[in-house]
Amino acid sequence: MLQQTQVNTVIPYFKRFTDKFKTLKSLSRSSEKKILKLWEGLGYYRRARNLLLTSKILVNSHDSKLPKTIKEIKTLPGVGDYTANALLSLVYNKPGIALDGNVKRVFSRIINKKENKINFDKFIEINKKKFFITKRNSDFVEALMEFGALICKPKDPKCNICSLNKNCKYFNSSKKIKSNKNKMIKNKNFDVFCYINKKKQIALTKKNNLGFLNHYSLPGIRETRNHIKNKNWKLLKQYKKSISNKKLNINLYYKFSNKIPPSFNWYSIEKNKEFIPTFTKKIFKQVSTLF
Ligand code: SF4
Repeated sequence: MLQQTQVNTVIPYFKRFTDKFKTLKSLSRSSEKKILKLWEGLGYYRRARNLLLTSKILVNSHDSKLPKTIKEIKTLPGVGDYTANALLSLVYNKPGIALDGNVKRVFSRIINKKENKINFDKFIEINKKKFFITKRNSDFVEALMEFGALICKPKDPKCNICSLNKNCKYFNSSKKIKSNKNKMIKNKNFDVFCYINKKKQIALTKKNNLGFLNHYSLPGIRETRNHIKNKNWKLLKQYKKSISNKKLNINLYYKFSNKIPPSFNWYSIEKNKEFIPTFTKKIFKQVSTLF
């Protein structure tokens, strides 16, 4: 849950999730539908799907235990280098470094070299005798991430109180490297088409080829350069929305209709037991103003 999402946002979700699933076994017996409903609003839904798949693999093939080698851990769905190292250190106290954005920034500043110029695997290999002198590998991996989040922050690092400042090239250099900026793709325009009916229903489909919105329940949506000029569709609202690192300009259109394309199904705008992503919920809110 914490990948790409802040702690404060995660806390209520984590509580609900762990209240519902007290053991790995109970999670493995759940359905994707239930998991997505509990995850609703948290975004990056692939994480939820992978968590469910992983729980099934662990229960069925690993006696409900996490494997002990990095090679085996990395075969689990959604688990790459970062998660595998974090798990090995946190669960089994094995030496490892979970290279997230915070940790990469710390290393990059200490040697005052841009992140994209560093081979991090090589960097860790060369320095492993310095890194892994502790027996508290679990604390070390956690501390490194926290250090990046709280002290060596992206903006205004707290160099004056930093215990590494004597040996930090960034701090001691007059020519400091610049931090990597998050890449934002600007001004992507999307036309969203909502079929609605008098029963306060909206037609949604999971069939779309929008990449970052795949598998979601959405109205008709397509990327566009210009606004459509089609008498059949009425413009309801224009607004901006950010999804992961994308900024979207949304043109929301609607029409009342009883006929919908074959891959669409009707969903109630007001009450829904289905998992509805936040992007679509915002559309529900706009459409409900028509009734
Ligand atoms: S001295 Fe500053 S830049 Fe260097 S590690 Fe500490 S907080 Fe980061």
